[in-house]
Amino acid sequence: MPDTRLTEEQESLRRTVAEFAREVVAPVAAKHDEEKTFPYEVVAGMAKMGLFGLPFPESYGGMGGDFFTLCLAIEELARVDSSIAITLEAGCSLGAMPIYRFGTEEQKREWLPTLCSGETLGAFGLTEPEAGSDAGGTRTTARLDDGTWVINGSKAFITNSGTDITRLVTVTAVTATSSDDRNTAGTKEISTILVPVPTPGFTAEPAYSKVGWHASDTHPLTLVDVRVPEANLLGERGRGYANFLSILDEGRIAIAALAVGLAQACVDESVVYARQRHAFGRPIGANQAISFKIAEMEARTHVARTAYYDAAARMATGLPFKKEAAIAKLVSSEAAVTNAREATQIHGGYGFMNEYPVARHWRDSKILEIGEGTSEVQKMLIARHLGL
Ligand SMILES: Cc1cc2nc3c(=O)[nH]c(=O)nc-3n(C[C@H](O)[C@H](O)[C@H](O)COP(=O)(O)OP(=O)(O)OC[C@H]3O[C@@H](n4cnc5c(N)ncnc54)[C@H](O)[C@@H]3O)c2cc1C
Repeated sequence: MPDTRLTEEQESLRRTVAEFAREVVAPVAAKHDEEKTFPYEVVAGMAKMGLFGLPFPESYGGMGGDFFTLCLAIEELARVDSSIAITLEAGCSLGAMPIYRFGTEEQKREWLPTLCSGETLGAFGLTEPEAGSDAGGTRTTARLDDGTWVINGSKAFITNSGTDITRLVTVTAVTATSSDDRNTAGTKEISTILVPVPTPGFTAEPAYSKVGWHASDTHPLTLVDVRVPEANLLGERGRGYANFLSILDEGRIAIAALAVGLAQACVDESVVYARQRHAFGRPIGANQAISFKIAEMEARTHVARTAYYDAAARMATGLPFKKEAAIAKLVSSEAAVTNAREATQIHGGYGFMNEYPVARHWRDSKILEIGEGTSEVQKMLIARHLGL
């Protein structure tokens, strides 16, 4: 088992982000949720703290921290607002990380400094209307024409793809030759290409109307004869799918951290409410039906946190972590959904009112069992590791 104890720096960062979440995020979370607006002022505050550069080296404008520390920050933000937590998760883990992991030195120098400073956001365009869990079913194509990639296709549900500060979307595409879009193995050759925003032919369509994550930016994208230089290929040609899957392995730990934050928020809100709400002449928390529910919520959150700490610590120490990341994502997203449902129940009718944060947590929780690999996909990954 890797050592999962936090260092002094990690503890200090966690406390700083918790304070920021309480003082800056909490006062405006309900407003942005209700108005479905992207919280530019909060994002600017996070940028000022260096959060978007947390896991990247200082030489590229980052903070020189690690992925575990980023997860701690995401957990603390999600304790207050999942929308802002997913904005950071997608910005770092999906927007900037593919460039850091697979980019050339030139690409890193061009893109990472402003992504790390939070002046700009990058997005990760893997999912398509007909290809989600089965991302190998990508239909978007990119063909080389005289030193230029010409990209055509569409992407679905892409986070951070349409904000005023979005400057980059990394897309997967079948890199077809004029006559053949399959390599000798008979599988599609999928590559990853950097699309600067704006580029003619690239459109972030109107934002989705979502059940939750109202203050997070999510759009369908269309690409019609989008032309970018051949040098915008990210990583090796034909390795795009594999590279994106490895980015998702890490991303799962970050989503698990987000889910733990939401699950913990539900415990925190429920404890306060169970003490103050009276029924039949005593606080509802004096009934074991309520206090045991909250005890189970706390236990669920603890187990989920332990799972993501383990996966993050394994990743940090260079141990295999894919199975543990899938387990962490699976158990923590289920913990978040269950805790959100129970917290709403504990709040009775008020739990169904948007003035109480648990209503928002309930709406925000379900996507955690879907995004960055559904629960079924996590089970497929775990089963595969067991040789099934
Ligand atoms: C708010 C939001 C933000 C997102 N952000 C991004 C982003 O930034 N970038 C990006 O690329 N994508 C993003 N996504 C897409 C997300 O990752 C996909 O929605 C998810 O992977 C599921 O794909 P799908 O929606 O096509 O569902 P499908 O793959 O069609 O799955 C439908 C159902 O079938 C199940 N299923 C599928 N195959 C199997 C199988 N073999 N065995 C058992 N069950 C199976 C699934 O588990 C699911 O329950 C986002 C989605 C949302 C909703």
